[in-house]
Amino acid sequence: MNDATPDSRRGHRFLDGQDRKLLIGGQWVSAARGATIATLNPSTGELLANFAAGDAEDVNRAVAAARAAFEGEWARFKPFQRQEILLKWADLIDANFEELCWLDTLDMGAPISVTRMRRQRVIGMLRFYAGMATALHGETVENSMPGNFASFTLKDPIGVVGAIIPWNGPLVACVWKIAPALATGCTVVLKPSEEAPLTALRLGELLMEAGLPAGVVNIVTGYGHQAGAALAAHPGVDKVAFTGSTGTGRRLIEASAGNFKRLSLELGGKSPNIVFADADLDAAVPGAAMAVFANSGQICSAGTRLFVEAPVYDEFVERVAAFGKALKVGDSALPETQIGPVVSARQLETVQRYLASGPSEGAIALSGGARLTGGDYDKGFFVAPTVFKGVRDEMAIAREEIFGPVISALPFSDIDDVMRRANDTEYGLGSGVWTTNLSTAHKMAKGLRAGSVWINCYQSTDPAMPFGGFKSSGIGRESGIEHLYQYLETKSVWINLG
Ligand code: NAD
Repeated sequence: MNDATPDSRRGHRFLDGQDRKLLIGGQWVSAARGATIATLNPSTGELLANFAAGDAEDVNRAVAAARAAFEGEWARFKPFQRQEILLKWADLIDANFEELCWLDTLDMGAPISVTRMRRQRVIGMLRFYAGMATALHGETVENSMPGNFASFTLKDPIGVVGAIIPWNGPLVACVWKIAPALATGCTVVLKPSEEAPLTALRLGELLMEAGLPAGVVNIVTGYGHQAGAALAAHPGVDKVAFTGSTGTGRRLIEASAGNFKRLSLELGGKSPNIVFADADLDAAVPGAAMAVFANSGQICSAGTRLFVEAPVYDEFVERVAAFGKALKVGDSALPETQIGPVVSARQLETVQRYLASGPSEGAIALSGGARLTGGDYDKGFFVAPTVFKGVRDEMAIAREEIFGPVISALPFSDIDDVMRRANDTEYGLGSGVWTTNLSTAHKMAKGLRAGSVWINCYQSTDPAMPFGGFKSSGIGRESGIEHLYQYLETKSVWINLG
């Protein structure tokens, strides 16, 4: 690796040595107890910034500000005005996109070439929700009551939303949580991940610049077990919108019991990516590799169980391994880097445990299989793209979410065999099918128990297409009209017309 320090990294305003603060009621404030947390660049291990370690007291202040905003000026905003704010925010994000890309890249390690490609996704998402702000409506309902009654429904904003997000794509995650809340008239307390909080704070500045009234969006950085847990249990929070691990999701369900919070949960996965022998293998090889290696495997819907039909299994997995070996792994700030580090030393340890457990259960690493070391690699948290062959369904690497660049390749005999085994998991988030047979494609789309089925592609997204999980992969859907309904309560109105 080369150790050049790109100007954009050196000169970033957020890396000026100042502690980053909380956004509460439109003001940037220190945590009540004054504590801070350090965030590191996972490519180099260098300190990027210190940020406020908010806790229950800060969450109390933020929830109070969000409640006051919900009942104040924001309640009088017309849909058109909420739309204007969202469009203004979209324009500001567009104008400051390069800076936001650097924050994501430096804070969580996605290569700069990759974060730069997210412009259309982020801006498109914002414009979609801005459009929806003026398209929401209740219904007039015919009733059969004796007498003369009018009946119709109203869609009310749910109230104060606690939004809790992970670190694997901060820019997208923030927008995905805040935009539907603003479109529907809710207010927000956002708790970014302690691993990568910087993008959220810059987005908070841009929201203020867009003219959002104070308190409509508040940002409390801090640890999950402190700020996160306080938000999840807070009686003043009406809904928690969460993206993160299945284990934390389970704790949030318990924490919601006190006031029956509405919950939407986007959780983990162990998604099957299925290659039939009749597939266009030239397209399926990069499709299978990047379904896992992209973002160093830190994508909830990564296609980590690679099922390949027996006649082409050996050849196909060799080709995927060769593809993985050719990828440029390195400092995420370098323009040529295709695969960056994993986010932290802790995440590296987790991935390394699975790299050891695979061979101990009989799997063979065709590529990778270890942390990358030597030279600058030693400073960061780099894992070589790994393809395990000889994997059996019951192995830990075939059942548990690793969240690293690790493919577990499994042979299958026919469509019935692979359908049963693909669905034999606690998860149900993504799934992929590679085939040229239309009938196989339709049968798989119908039979797979997963929130998304990608056929001859992987990870396609659109703000209008719902995304979410079956089973332990979550509750609810993000994107699409369904997403907006999760921020709304339905109220039935009856009028006795006499
Ligand atoms: P995590 O569950 O450890 O943390 C997610 C967020 O929850 C963080 O902000 C954290 O501080 C907070 N948190 C932790 N404990 C908490 C508690 N007790 N109460 C309240 N908040 C708490 O997840 P992570 O390691 O940051 O992210 C990786 C996980 O996220 C993976 O499992 C991945 O599959 C999942 N994920 C899912 C999706 C999806 O859309 N389904 C998208 C991205 C990531």
